Amino acid sequence: MEKPEFDSHLLRTALAQLDRTALRLNLEPDIHERLRYPRRALVVSVPVLMDSGKTEVFQGYRVHHSTVLGPTKGGLRYAPDVNLGEVTALAMLMSWKCALIGLPYGGAKGGVSVDPHALSRRELEHLTRRYTAEIMLFIGPDLDIPAPDLGTDEQTMAWMMDTYSMTQGKSVPGVVTGKPLIVGGSAGRREATGRGIVYAVYHAAHRLGQNLQGLKVVVQGFGNVGSVAARLLWREGCVVVGVGDVRGAIWNPHGFDVRQLEAHVAESGSVAGFPGSEPLGNAELLERPCDILVPAAVGSQLREDNADRVRATIVAEGANGPTTPEADAVLRDRGVTVIPDILANAGGVIVSYFEWVQGLQYYFWRESEIVSRLQEVMTRAFSRVWALAAKEGTDLRTAALMEGVRRVAEGYRVRGLYP
Ligand code: GLU
Repeated sequence: MEKPEFDSHLLRTALAQLDRTALRLNLEPDIHERLRYPRRALVVSVPVLMDSGKTEVFQGYRVHHSTVLGPTKGGLRYAPDVNLGEVTALAMLMSWKCALIGLPYGGAKGGVSVDPHALSRRELEHLTRRYTAEIMLFIGPDLDIPAPDLGTDEQTMAWMMDTYSMTQGKSVPGVVTGKPLIVGGSAGRREATGRGIVYAVYHAAHRLGQNLQGLKVVVQGFGNVGSVAARLLWREGCVVVGVGDVRGAIWNPHGFDVRQLEAHVAESGSVAGFPGSEPLGNAELLERPCDILVPAAVGSQLREDNADRVRATIVAEGANGPTTPEADAVLRDRGVTVIPDILANAGGVIVSYFEWVQGLQYYFWRESEIVSRLQEVMTRAFSRVWALAAKEGTDLRTAALMEGVRRVAEGYRVRGLYP
């Protein structure tokens, strides 16, 4: 097994964002210093008996960035390039995101360095159960609550919940969110991130004097986040002109029928080859003319070398950390409105919070209630960030980070330093 790698683009981005924000907030150096480090990080090895009969060892992580505002919350990602630095950065982003929204959580993240598509269902189940057993002391309904992220889904959460519950001798639904409905999942959780993006885009467009009808949309990534964002924006009257996934991108200046596109993806496994579309490279997709660009795939997609060719007026970050600090500066200078990840994709953790609360009370809400509460929380957060950006004469990312970091810092300040 290789040693855990700490070096990561995303960690550099997250630290650069924190340092910039600390400066703007005039943060006390001792609190700033504490915020730069995760509270605790666990590295585990996850041995799995593969279908071939051989045992393979995967490396896994769970990082709690800050526990000052409550138990920690954040997704679990399965991807080949996951490392300790990336998981730490993502945990840090969860701290700002939860604080910005006003959820009673600190930030956490987990990851296993694995290509989930290369594993059979049995192998994935064993990997998930062994990983859960290895991080058992790190998670719990009032300690740290994982959820899906890149490469994981409802089934992953069901296996985690079952593994944890078996060791407790009872069902513990509150240990994870994003579970299947039948075992305590929430109505509307699956669509929540995509739906939250639509609210954010709606408000941004509205403030810029536009409504959604006829706006041209490009979505990079067609998983749980990108496909729902594309479908709901299309339903609101947007024209979805470009989409991409790991196997390729497609373009149609007249727009796609997103329902038919989803059926094509369900059948073939990719957007590529959708009838009536022009094939594109994924890099080119980001540079095509459109009004709204939704990077909803992996991190560091908008960089110094392509940011000046982005032709959207609004970028809504569905992914975590899709824009490097250099690209951010370029987009800012060019007047592109970037709705930052910690605001744009917060719908997921907002409905995770609803799921957790429902599970703790054994009382479940209707989908219409979830949707209207999500809309209310997103609208409030958007308005706060927009107003702060206007007051400070700054961009939305800076404002969102200022609000998120300020709240976490305030928690450190009032709680003080133990001992
Ligand atoms: N993985 C999602 C995120 O990055 C959701 C986390 C959660 O629901 O806890 O926000």
